[in-house]
Amino acid sequence: MPLTSDPACLLIDGGWTTAEDGRQRAIVNPFDASALALVAEASAVDADRAVRAARAAFDEGSWAHAPAARRAGVLTATADALQEHREELALLETLDTGKTLSESRADVDDATAVLRYYAAPSASDAGRTVETGRPDAISRVVYEPVGVCALITPWNYPLLQICWKLAPALVAGNTVVAKPSELTPMTTIRLFRLLQEQLEQAGAPSGTANLVLGGGAVGAALAEHPEVDLVSFTGGLATGRSVMRAAADTVKKVALELGGKNPNIVFADADLDAAVDFALTAAFLHSGQVCSAGSRLLLHRSLHADFTAELARRADLIRLGNGLEKGTETGPLVSAEHREKVERLLAGALAEGAVLRAGGGRPTEPELQAGFFLRPTVLDSCHAGMTVVREEVFGPVLTVELFDEEDEVVALANDTPYGLAGAVWTQDAGRGERVAARLRLGTVWINDYHPYVPQAEWGGFKQSGTGRELGPSGLREYQETKHIWRTVIPAAQHWFAG
Ligand code: NAD
Repeated sequence: MPLTSDPACLLIDGGWTTAEDGRQRAIVNPFDASALALVAEASAVDADRAVRAARAAFDEGSWAHAPAARRAGVLTATADALQEHREELALLETLDTGKTLSESRADVDDATAVLRYYAAPSASDAGRTVETGRPDAISRVVYEPVGVCALITPWNYPLLQICWKLAPALVAGNTVVAKPSELTPMTTIRLFRLLQEQLEQAGAPSGTANLVLGGGAVGAALAEHPEVDLVSFTGGLATGRSVMRAAADTVKKVALELGGKNPNIVFADADLDAAVDFALTAAFLHSGQVCSAGSRLLLHRSLHADFTAELARRADLIRLGNGLEKGTETGPLVSAEHREKVERLLAGALAEGAVLRAGGGRPTEPELQAGFFLRPTVLDSCHAGMTVVREEVFGPVLTVELFDEEDEVVALANDTPYGLAGAVWTQDAGRGERVAARLRLGTVWINDYHPYVPQAEWGGFKQSGTGRELGPSGLREYQETKHIWRTVIPAAQHWFAG
């Protein structure tokens, strides 16, 4: 794919524009390190202009107070446009992230589904009337938009993550400034071009949806901006902490979707064929660059020899390659820096006593040398004290720990600062439910790994985040709650005698 230049790809106050200082950034294809595109690199000045446009659009009021069906119509039309441009978007996502084309197509479909879910009237809630105990008073609770929302997203699921935020934010009547990852902005730019057409057709004010591009400095400028009312952030734990600190000065609302160190627990009575198969999917889908990746396998001791042998055998068979080619099963890591970080953690694990059962290094095929590939890696003989078991690796590295008892595995699984997701494999339904109830995780799968639906909440316990995306709670993040009290027949009370 030739290098394309798209300098006017910031959307500010309804217009497509270059960065104020003219800066640009090269976007790299992780499959072969080639330059994919040149895009605008915004600064804090551009972020400020975008926030002010969103503020003016919100305060003008016609979007926040539009009939809900008009806002929902914009989401539905954008969902239709995503489907119309499905192949183009999937291609862009694969070139930008390295994931396979079938994964990218699934991402476009999932993004479409979340737009449609929040567009449905059943997704909204009119509030409630409250019994006051007084015949002359009506009391009701209603939901209103929060205001200007900054939406900051990571590089692993660029199109999907922005849609998880954009759909509830817009349908609730907010205005937004989005900032995708500086590594993978391509599908977000395309999405905003499609969205902006729909907003214009619906007569929305010009600054309803704004897009700025760039790295941490632009994200930080949004997080600390006094005119931003809410920051919804998905990314790493350290960045999440700094977003929370930056937001504190103006007491912004903050929603954080952070990392995970997710346990995948296999009991001796599990369906072993399915459990091995899903242990691979859990750990190596998108080369492990998934927040809910099942990177910690907790295996009943009786299964150790056979299960790990089969796991290692199949991990070694995983076909790495160009996401555009049919036979490819998984792609590269997103950048050279990220691969180096994963390699450092891997070297540390081996130094701490982990035993290599599969992978452990870069592939040797000549056609994979330019890209940022790393072989799917299985590390045996791990324990909860190791850095590789405690820290999110965010790469194709699976650690194996052993357990004997149910209580022991629950304690092991919960012995982490994270609490995003995990799974339990057992054919004893009672045990599955019992363990699921004791895991301090936002999502628990029983005899499955990774499925989700837009109507069910997603998010983390503990340091995996605050708040929830998807489902009714995902909409509530973008709403203020207001109590309106009306006295029908006003009458003086004479609290004060004078
Ligand atoms: P990251 O934290 O490096 O970056 C995320 C976003 O924050 C990017 O847009 C980045 O430019 C921006 N940013 C960087 N510094 C900032 C600052 N100081 N203030 C504001 N914004 C700033 O994360 P990443 O490497 O892009 O993504 C990987 C991480 O995302 C992993 O930890 C993964 O678990 C997490 N993630 C979580 C979920 C979830 O649903 N919980 C989903 C996907 C990814």
